Amino acid sequence: MSARIIDGKAFAAEIRGRVGEEVARLKAEHGITPGLAVVLVGEDPASQVYVRSKGRHTIEAGMNSYEHKLPADTPEAELLALIERLNEDPAVHGILVQLPLPGHMDEAAVINAISPAKDVDGFHILNVGRLATGQKAMVPCTPLGCLMMLRDLHGDLSGMGAVVIGRSNIVGKPMAQLLLGDSCTVTIAHSRTRDLPGVVKRADIVVAAVGRPEMVKGEWIKPGATVIDVGINRIPAPEKGEGKTRLVGDVDFESAAKVAGAITPVPGGVGPMTIACLLANTLTACCRIHGLPEPEGLTA
Ligand code: NDP
Repeated sequence: MSARIIDGKAFAAEIRGRVGEEVARLKAEHGITPGLAVVLVGEDPASQVYVRSKGRHTIEAGMNSYEHKLPADTPEAELLALIERLNEDPAVHGILVQLPLPGHMDEAAVINAISPAKDVDGFHILNVGRLATGQKAMVPCTPLGCLMMLRDLHGDLSGMGAVVIGRSNIVGKPMAQLLLGDSCTVTIAHSRTRDLPGVVKRADIVVAAVGRPEMVKGEWIKPGATVIDVGINRIPAPEKGEGKTRLVGDVDFESAAKVAGAITPVPGGVGPMTIACLLANTLTACCRIHGLPEPEGLTA
């Protein structure tokens, strides 16, 4: 058996296209342009790449993009004052503070200073609580992207057995909440889980968010299961030349693709969905702030 490869790149392009259409409609019918403010503190190279890419996609979707770059030694109070200004700014509907923050800053305090209505990353404690209690929330982008792919593939997820490997606040826990919200029977596995292969083997849906290259093996997977690989790991690739590297997921793709019914590749699977869902969240936030109906299928 050979798995269907889920094309996250194509699906993400479709989502971005739908967001773009809705943005055009908002402009034409209500004269509103959604705006996303991204705040970057310091000069972490990976963060700079992410922020540039977010800005480019925001503009391509027809939204306004506001970038705020602050030096690494910015006092926390200054960042909090900027967030307060963005909270009050009617042109800004989404605020994202790029993580990680420099060590002298209290990440939780910064995130919780963002207005929950504009918290497009879904990390504010109120949104975390709303998601956990089944209320309307802003949902973290990566798990939202995974949920969209699963719904697209299966339609109704009700009753399916799902294992989420990883219990981080940004991926594992919200992923488990979303699957529970769609009536899956959810198991959350982590570094202390006993017999992880046996736990994975029972699942119809496996979401791997571990950060360990190719850890989940094909023989762990139930035949026909759907495998969503969130991991992004850079490993040496001597076959490409000296000092070269390549990206792999948390799943051993080659062996898993022989057993699974469907699987996301790395790269080109979950990764592109994250930015698409950031745009979707910005649109959703804008509609909610203005009391307008939300476009269907772009949120949980
Ligand atoms: P964290 O490091 O915050 O969490 C990793 C989780 O994996 C922890 O809960 C940990 O368990 C668990 N874990 C570690 N080792 C094992 C093991 N041997 N067996 C079972 N569980 C284990 O990572 P994140 O959630 O932030 O990210 C996970 C991966 O997803 C990373 O590769 C990251 O790069 C990627 N990622 C991809 C995104 C995308 O857009 N595609 C976005 C965000 C992340 P414990 O809690 O017990 O320590």
